[in-house]
Amino acid sequence: NSIVNASASESERAVEAALRPRKLTDFIGQPKVCEQLELVLTAAQNRGVSPDHVLLAGPPGLGKTTLSMIIAAELGASLRLTSGPAIQHAGDLAAILSSLQEGDVLFIDEIHRLARTAEEMLYLAMEDFRVDVIVGKGPGATSIPLTLPPFTVVGATTRSGLLPAPLRDRFGFTAHLEYYDAAELQKVVERSARLLETEIDVEAAAEIAGRSRGTPRIANRLLRRVVDFAQVHGNGVVDRAAAQAALTLFEVDPEGLDRLDRAVLETLCTRFNGGPVGLTTLAITVGEEPETVETVAEPYLVREGFVIRTTRGRAATRKAWEHLGLIPPDNGMF
Ligand code: ATP
Repeated sequence: NSIVNASASESERAVEAALRPRKLTDFIGQPKVCEQLELVLTAAQNRGVSPDHVLLAGPPGLGKTTLSMIIAAELGASLRLTSGPAIQHAGDLAAILSSLQEGDVLFIDEIHRLARTAEEMLYLAMEDFRVDVIVGKGPGATSIPLTLPPFTVVGATTRSGLLPAPLRDRFGFTAHLEYYDAAELQKVVERSARLLETEIDVEAAAEIAGRSRGTPRIANRLLRRVVDFAQVHGNGVVDRAAAQAALTLFEVDPEGLDRLDRAVLETLCTRFNGGPVGLTTLAITVGEEPETVETVAEPYLVREGFVIRTTRGRAATRKAWEHLGLIPPDNGMF
């Protein structure tokens, strides 16, 4: 996995934690979501109740975990963190629910991956603050209804379309996180550099921001590699030359494309004259699994208009040809 596409490792999670904004006012970007959240939280606080359950929807790395922590902090509440895949059985969820205290915030990451039985238990808990705990096994098992104190679920999902409607309906408020623009990402980079006690100039921050694919997690990740580079090869001060050299070393180009992204574009343009070509053929020629091409490289290439998906396969756009420094064919496609 490349630097832009890797999911967060354990060690990265530790650095991420240090770079997290802790208050809504420190959270960069997402103005609409911040304003909506601020209103929901303030109104609930004024009424002296737990706020409605909140669903955070959006691609990875845009700040869903960060926002859940901010929500708890703004409410002065304790936060419990879990995730859909971590809850294998309804019993796992029952154990968490029955230990909640009044006003707690329960963060469930990847909530679309909850087991079906846990999902049903969660409906009841979110709606009526009740949970049925099963004690014992087999014919002797009994179900003990338990009343829960009021609490707030903050669910996070990258695929809100995958959430069953009954679960989606139990959230009083859904926040849709959008990709960040270059100016916002530049602020993220500058803020993180300050926290890492690194001097960075404006051009370098802009350079990193421009290659971060609209994603703060990637911006922070690229920043750390650039800081490594500046410390090893320079005097530790991050300037544009250091940023460019480091990002070239890690094969992240000015549009934020990595080695695999470029291989896909090059194959499409030079081997298949721009396509359209089927996913499997494309993937075999690149030397990757079709699934990798489809889930790792393609979303960003399509989002940025380098590739289009047609019924006959994938095709390169004019932007792809130009990005590779090639002349688009005069075949009526453009
Ligand atoms: P995933 O769903 O993949 O876990 P996520 O959406 O929960 O991702 P976070 O873990 O909250 O993302 O954020 C990733 C990193 O980006 C963190 O280091 C966080 O500090 C930083 N970050 C996210 N949003 C912002 C922001 N608005 N301002 C500053 N830093 C941010």
